[in-house]
Amino acid sequence: MTTTPARLTVLAGPTAVGKGTVSADVRARYPQVWLSVSATTRSPRPGEVDGVHYRFVSEAEFDRMVAAGELLEWAVVHGRHRYGTPRGPVEERLAAGEPVLLEIDLQGARQVRESMPEARFVFLAPPSWDELVRRLVGRGTEDEAERERRLATARVELAAEPEFDHVIVNDDVHRATDELLAVMGVVTG
Ligand code: 5GP
Repeated sequence: MTTTPARLTVLAGPTAVGKGTVSADVRARYPQVWLSVSATTRSPRPGEVDGVHYRFVSEAEFDRMVAAGELLEWAVVHGRHRYGTPRGPVEERLAAGEPVLLEIDLQGARQVRESMPEARFVFLAPPSWDELVRRLVGRGTEDEAERERRLATARVELAAEPEFDHVIVNDDVHRATDELLAVMGVVTG
């Protein structure tokens, strides 16, 4: 099943580094890049729209998707909820020759490396550990226990940087997006 795997880009990086912000910036400025919509068992946050930000599914539906082989990768993130990339839409877009971006966690990125090693693997890094902590606390959408869980995950995730083909420091969202698009070959420079 080789379509045009070189056009698949996986964006990973520690929690709160700004993967969501960078991919939203890509979507806003370059609608020709198709951003995969993940399935998740977590509940929507205020403002999140089913089918746009995520496909919010029940545990039973996620089980079904796993059993049916419908997910390209999936993982339990922060020890809590399951997240996964629906395989069909990704393969359709790649077959159509469109650039595809997956914004997923490290465990997911490793699975994609197994099944689609030709993809580009990009690690979004924080300017520093202190800045990462500041962003995580500043977001204010999680309670204390959840923040601790996410920081513990982030420490492990930061250590994975050398596994990636490209490292982009998210010091400025627009600049990081431009660098990502250059890596993807969507824009030059
Ligand atoms: P959040 O709950 O803050 O939206 O996302 C939590 C984490 O789940 C983020 O690090 C995000 O990259 C990761 N994530 C989102 N979708 C997927 C997916 O489809 N697969 C995997 N493995 N991780 C995902």
